[in-house]
Amino acid sequence: MSDVIHLLPDHVANQIAAGEVVQRPASVIKELLENAIDAKARNIQVFIKEAGKILIKVVDDGVGMSITDARLSFERHATSKIKTAEDLFQLQTKGFRGEALASIAAIAHVELKTKREGDEIGTCIKIEGSQVVAQEPCTTATGTSLTVKNLFYNIPARRNFLKSDTVETRHIVDEFQRVALAHPNITFTLVHNTGELFQLPSANYRQRITNIFGGKTNEKLVPVNEETEILTISGFVGKPQFAKRTRGEQFFFVNDRFIKSPYLNHAVTAAFEGLLKDNAFPSYFLYLKVDPKSIDINIHPTKTEIKFDDEHALYAIMRSAIKHSLGQFNVAPILDFDRDPTMDTPYNYENKQATTPKVEVDRNFNPFKEEQNRGRSFSPSFRRETPSWESLYTGLNTEQPENSEELRQIEFESEEVTGNLFGASKSEESQHSTFQLNKKFIISTLKNGMLVIDQHRAHTRILYEELLKSITVHAAVSQQLLFPLQLQFSQNEIRLLKGIKDALENTGFIFSEIRKDSIEISGIPTTVSESEVEMLLEQLLADFENEVPGNNFSQTDLLAKSLAKSMAVKSGNLLNPTEQQHIVNGLFACKEPTLTPSNKPVFITLPVEEIEKKFM
Ligand code: ADP
Ligand code: MG
Repeated sequence: MSDVIHLLPDHVANQIAAGEVVQRPASVIKELLENAIDAKARNIQVFIKEAGKILIKVVDDGVGMSITDARLSFERHATSKIKTAEDLFQLQTKGFRGEALASIAAIAHVELKTKREGDEIGTCIKIEGSQVVAQEPCTTATGTSLTVKNLFYNIPARRNFLKSDTVETRHIVDEFQRVALAHPNITFTLVHNTGELFQLPSANYRQRITNIFGGKTNEKLVPVNEETEILTISGFVGKPQFAKRTRGEQFFFVNDRFIKSPYLNHAVTAAFEGLLKDNAFPSYFLYLKVDPKSIDINIHPTKTEIKFDDEHALYAIMRSAIKHSLGQFNVAPILDFDRDPTMDTPYNYENKQATTPKVEVDRNFNPFKEEQNRGRSFSPSFRRETPSWESLYTGLNTEQPENSEELRQIEFESEEVTGNLFGASKSEESQHSTFQLNKKFIISTLKNGMLVIDQHRAHTRILYEELLKSITVHAAVSQQLLFPLQLQFSQNEIRLLKGIKDALENTGFIFSEIRKDSIEISGIPTTVSESEVEMLLEQLLADFENEVPGNNFSQTDLLAKSLAKSMAVKSGNLLNPTEQQHIVNGLFACKEPTLTPSNKPVFITLPVEEIEKKFM
């Protein structure tokens, strides 16, 4: 009998390999994202059509490829990432198997465009079912763009096996989020059909998490940090009271790679012992760094399962690190350093008339002194302020001149200008040296020059910080309306409104009824007049609509930004001297007086020397 064994042709072998590597459109996204990261991209854009079944396109600004490399990249076991078997034990890259592009090209219509920095012309290659159908020079930006069309076009069984667009999109979003969470410093975009699902700016870990899961997430995070010889852990766990009924936000990253580990998951759950309600799952975002030698990533083609050398030790370290963090949090919430402690400070507003704008002044604050300025935005300034705030409540420290001074300052709601900023002597301070220019700017004299403040921007900043505060600490006061307001909205607007109702109520709105296409409002913030309400809400809903529902914006932040912008005095509004003073004082009591919430400058200074120069 003749021999029966023969080698499979490459394209068949590739198709078989593809069966392991590419299960669905999301797998393609994962591989292409990883390649882009390995290529040191700073900015990665993903476009998909019909849940990736029709089109997947990943564009990066990474190092690109030469003509030869571009062609080779589609060969099986072709990789630039490892050379020898030893390299497997010190992996610094996501890829190393050299299989992804070959697999994808075996089961789809693929187009690659790539160019290295410095090369004048790029390379374009088209491959269909492992057959190169075109290769030509082309003009393209530095980096690589890979388009994958008609996935599984030649394997109908696989294609039919794909789930609905909703399900496949969910898988894509999952993969996208995992990669994006592991690399917060890279900018990512995900566009589905024509709608943007995610637009993630370069950020730190906490910001990236918040950008993906919404602004509310921020306050739920407890930082975890532990450094040992075999393992460094950083990241966050969710506070127990926010634990979910479903296993949603649970992420482990090992050396920047998302991994699944039931074993380590058990360690986290064990750390939460006694803190969770039945059937609740804690959320976590844990970043582990270990020596690449001590892990084996090679045990699964999709590389989401890895083997640790010393699992037991990892388990123990992990559990105790999280326990420790949770303990700190439970005993003393203030020890959560990333939390803004001023949020916990009660304010002395109860016995005050509501005025627009409200003002708090930090007498020690000098916006032109680098060091103090920095101090303000962090907790040290809180420590410094604590005694005076406490004195407001106890009233016992009046014999201390410093405290009584602060007290008087606050009680009079800062009619006085801060000493450091506006010159030394007391008599000078009380001269109210502001005036309005063009109904647009507030001019004030400084010790050594002139301050020009944009009134609208300044007021926006003040209101923005106040709103953030009231949304977070639920401290806003409402004015009850004698006759509830009835307002009409579209169903879509009502849907949006329901989504932000809670946050809005924290600013002082009271919604007595929300119907299919109209609402009834029985209370509004004290800082808003009844006639403004409709305009304000319309603007707010428009702002939310433009943010593409379901994406990453921070709800609270957007809400505060939008309301602040609408509520702030406009340019063209005449302001009396007291109102001008309120704005100046309020502004410099802000945490970030120099910029508007959308990062535009609020004021400029004109030093005397500059003015003198003009006279030369
Ligand atoms: P692996 O990532 O395991 O090396 P792939 O099949 O994913 O295998 O890619 C093959 C090779 O093609 C990579 O090793 C890399 O050299 C090159 N490559 C793939 N994608 C890119 C990209 N986006 N930018 C630059 N080079 C790339
Ligand atoms: Mg790869």
